[in-house]
Amino acid sequence: MIEDGFFGFLDTVGMDAVDGQQQRSIRKLELQAEFARIAQDGNADAIANVARRMEAMASDLAALRVVVEVLAHAVVDLGGVDGAQLDDRMKAALGRFAAAQPQRGVVCGNCGLSYAPSKIVDTDAGPRCKRCHAL
Ligand SMILES: [Zn+2]
Repeated sequence: MIEDGFFGFLDTVGMDAVDGQQQRSIRKLELQAEFARIAQDGNADAIANVARRMEAMASDLAALRVVVEVLAHAVVDLGGVDGAQLDDRMKAALGRFAAAQPQRGVVCGNCGLSYAPSKIVDTDAGPRCKRCHAL
């Protein structure tokens, strides 16, 4: 992959993160199918497949981190942006990224189901869905 040059390498790294919702959805469906197989028959091969995929994703993220680090240092060293501007731009971009992420569900400590945060009541015993809280 390195022999394809900087942009060729970048094309192979973290594709589900840059390819948009469709790729993420496909990966998510694949993982859900894998977990369903595990739940059905406790298949050790399926568990090993999921572990291999997660290791591959972690490896992709680590490689992407190296690429971004090299690129950022090059931009700063060449005077394209100073360190403070880079920090400001990164904070703004990460803020936009975080705002665009789907809201994660909160798991009710009683029934174990996941709900939108607006459907959860914080109690002394932990988060409870409104139905369990009313019991
Ligand atoms: Zn509940």
